[in-house]
Amino acid sequence: MEVISVDNQATNKIKEKIWKVATTPKIRFFMWRALSGALAIADCLRRHGVNVPPICQLCNGASETVSHVLFECIIAQQVWLSTGLPLWPVYAMHSVSERFAHLLKLMERQDLDTSVREAIPWLLWEIWKARNSTLYAAKTNSPQFIVATALEEAREWLQQNLVAQQDRSRSLNHFSTGERRWSKPAPGKLKCNIHSSWIRDSFHIGGAWLLRNHLGEAVFHARDAFLPMVNRLAAELHIILWCV
Ligand SMILES: [Zn+2]
Repeated sequence: MEVISVDNQATNKIKEKIWKVATTPKIRFFMWRALSGALAIADCLRRHGVNVPPICQLCNGASETVSHVLFECIIAQQVWLSTGLPLWPVYAMHSVSERFAHLLKLMERQDLDTSVREAIPWLLWEIWKARNSTLYAAKTNSPQFIVATALEEAREWLQQNLVAQQDRSRSLNHFSTGERRWSKPAPGKLKCNIHSSWIRDSFHIGGAWLLRNHLGEAVFHARDAFLPMVNRLAAELHIILWCV
C-alpha cells in the first residue's frame, strides 16, 4: 500500500498542476495516471481485483507500487541519483503525491540545471518505459541511457514548442495587422504548415514544416537549406515536394 500523508485536496491540486506542466500531452496523462493510481502495476491492478503477484518483478524486493516503480526500484533510484537533482532521502517513506509535489517544485527552481529540471517529466516517462521494456521485451537499458534519452527527448520537444510559440506570436502579429490568423485543426486532426524562402541574389532556398495538433502544440517539425533554384515558384515547389 502507498503511504498517504497528504490529503485528497492537496493531491487534486497537484493533479491540476500536472495539466500545465511543459511536456507532451501523453506524458501529462501518464503523470496524472501515476498520481491517480491508474497505472498497470501490481498494486493498482490488485486493488481492482486483478490477481497478479504483488511483488516487483524487476527486483523481487518490494511490493510493486507506483512509488516503488518510479522512485524506489533499483534502476529508478539510480536514474534519480545520477540527475544530481536535490531529491528526497532514499530510504525515507514518501507518498506519490509528496514526490510529485517535490518534483514540480524542482521544475521551477531557477538555481538548478535548466536542461535537467525541465526534463523531469521525461525522466518519469523513461523510467516507466524502461520498466515495461524489461518486463515485456526482455530489454534492459542502463540508467545513463535512460537519463540521456529523457534529456534528449525533452530538449527536442521544448525546442519544437519554442518554434511553435514563436510561430503563434507571429500569427498573432499578422492578425493584428490585418493578415489571416492561423487556426487550430479540429480535435483528432493534425495541421501541417509549410514555409519556403528564396533569396533573389543568390537563388538560395530554405524550407520548414511544422505539424501541430488541435491544441496548437508542435508534434513534429523540420527545417533545412537546399541547392539554389532559379526562381521563387521553383523553390516553393521544391519545398512542397520535400515536405511530402
Ligand atoms: Zn523493484
